[in-house]
Amino acid sequence: MFNPKWMILAAICLSGNVFAESSYLVRFDFTPSIKNYLRTHDLDVTGINYKENHIEAFLTERELAEIQSQKTIIRYTLPKTLIASPDDEYKNPDEIEDFVKDIHARHPDITELKIIGKTLEGREIFAIKISDNAKVDELEPAILVNGMHHAREVMTPEITTDMVEYLTSNYGSNTEVTHWVNNTEIWIIPMFNLDGNNKMWNGNSMWRKNARDEHGVDLNRNYPHGWNSCNGSSSMEGAQDYRGASAASEPETQAMMSFVASIKPVFNISYHSYSEIVIYPFGCRPLKTPTGEEVQAIGAEIGKKLDYKPGTAWELLYNADGGDIDWMYVEHQVIPFVIEVNSSWQGFHPGYAKWRDKTVLRNRPGWQYLLSRLEGTSVQGQTSLSDYQRIVIFRTGDTKAVQVYKINPDGSFYIMLKSGTYDFSFEGNKTKRFNSVVVNQKINLSF
Ligand SMILES: [Zn+2]
Repeated sequence: MFNPKWMILAAICLSGNVFAESSYLVRFDFTPSIKNYLRTHDLDVTGINYKENHIEAFLTERELAEIQSQKTIIRYTLPKTLIASPDDEYKNPDEIEDFVKDIHARHPDITELKIIGKTLEGREIFAIKISDNAKVDELEPAILVNGMHHAREVMTPEITTDMVEYLTSNYGSNTEVTHWVNNTEIWIIPMFNLDGNNKMWNGNSMWRKNARDEHGVDLNRNYPHGWNSCNGSSSMEGAQDYRGASAASEPETQAMMSFVASIKPVFNISYHSYSEIVIYPFGCRPLKTPTGEEVQAIGAEIGKKLDYKPGTAWELLYNADGGDIDWMYVEHQVIPFVIEVNSSWQGFHPGYAKWRDKTVLRNRPGWQYLLSRLEGTSVQGQTSLSDYQRIVIFRTGDTKAVQVYKINPDGSFYIMLKSGTYDFSFEGNKTKRFNSVVVNQKINLSF
């Protein structure tokens, strides 16, 4: 429901200008002209609400005046001083470390901890693996889930820690969970931007970036694929989407990159807030992925399960370059998603008692679908990497490949496909071809 209190505050603030603070959270109608405006103006868009067709941004006084001059329909304006701080129950970096260590102590057989790198301020970035024989790197498909590239998005570690708790506590008693844990290497990075989150708890509840100097770098504009390529990030240090001095300049970005290269996940979810949307590559207009049919189908299915709107960043919002999912897709053929949890009515800092459980429960079907999808229509197996390096995939009867898949360093391959009849050409030092393979379930092509 619309809160009339905000409208009164807006009136006081804008007419009287009585507050020294000069930033505002502003909600305005998401019209085609605003969509256009966002292409050429670098605003701190905090979220969008497709069901109600409005958008929210964190604006300076000057930006607000400019938006108003566009005849924008403004729904409310909230001065920064009146934006709620997050409830204490949301986790900080120390609590995340305690959490993963406690889980590992309680479930040593099915979990393993890995420090994937350190932040600028020296904090250890933890990943927790959940799998049977967790200490062994088994021939199983991997899936990666990470929370909090952006420091103020406090609900996201709740989703990731709920996933850890759900999987570890239901192992052995719930058939589905037991199957996932026995047959998948599930990797979860509960909180990625630890330094930024620490800053968020210490004086700036709207902090988004990491702790680089005074200004910070937007970690999700710092990845090397397409870095600074489509006006989807900023060169200004003070901007919320500042991309950094160079591609992968930040130690956090580098840690994620070497970790993804080491585990080669089939799927990834990066949790963000807020907007109730599911984003898949690519971030730059008008690019779509070569395997878009399958990427979009899976994104649409997640969207359906969560009642979130699926699409690319440029379809749903604006261009975004240097994001993690584009890099994962191009460099490591991951099928990756950004899921923006919560709506504009909850914002970055929803009341914990009212929204935490509701949000994590609502989001379980999203990550659960990806774990189940590994058992769905696909071609999986293992071959000798010294003989074969890639698999060229054709729809039977077509001469244009639908995908060139790089075989993993351990010789394994996990290729998610839409139902159909395909030809598979294994290539490298030798070649081997499988023609007219009907793929309507999980097919094993090991040889
Ligand atoms: Zn975010």
